[in-house]
Amino acid sequence: AQGRALPSNLIIRMKFGATLRRIGVRGVEIRKPEQLDNVDGLIIPGGESTTMAKLANYHNLFPAMREFVSTGKPVWGTCAGLILLANKAVGQKLGGQEVIGGLDCTVHRNFFGSQLESFETLLSVPQLAEKEGGPDSCRGVFIRAPAILEVGPDVEVLADCPVPSDNARTIICAGEGKKERVIVAVRQGNLLGTAFHPELTSDSRWHSFFLKMGKETGERSLECVSAPEGY
Ligand code: GLN
Repeated sequence: AQGRALPSNLIIRMKFGATLRRIGVRGVEIRKPEQLDNVDGLIIPGGESTTMAKLANYHNLFPAMREFVSTGKPVWGTCAGLILLANKAVGQKLGGQEVIGGLDCTVHRNFFGSQLESFETLLSVPQLAEKEGGPDSCRGVFIRAPAILEVGPDVEVLADCPVPSDNARTIICAGEGKKERVIVAVRQGNLLGTAFHPELTSDSRWHSFFLKMGKETGERSLECVSAPEGY
């Protein structure tokens, strides 16, 4: 019998959970604002940022997530999660989009185009190399992906990638100067932002990088990593 397809957001949550378990981290899902008091880090996953923002609003999660960002505990926004973590999101058809903010950058929500224009590419990320000068490439899975157009002075660029020349939308988004490369991963203190989906590969180095950020920015090691409901 043909099984029912699992919703993609459920698969993403399961994959995050499995990779975190592999590196010894217990993940729990955050459904209520007060649950954030009991976790040491937060992952805001991919999905659809307008829907996620509406659901986060409905569950009154915005104030608690903003407070969490300001505690200095590590927060990782990936894809739609990156859009929510950015100070400014552009590229939506209808009006503005509520964001958590904190990450000093401007993100274009659908820079790389529609679902059909999703793609995979190799990224070079020196910070992921196990030893200095060691192999640093990682697979980037870009699904209806955003890109980072501008960053503030405190933001460290971890990865960029070429702007596809055959995609009409990216040519328009890249603007007058027709950017040749665009930023797809950044870090600012306790905040990590990735435009692609590291959890959809078998590579756990991004998760380990995030874990290390927790050790650097806080007293306690990262024991629990959580994701909000409703993506
Ligand atoms: N472009 C999507 C948005 O606006 C994000 C896509 C993703 O998370 N894979 O929310």
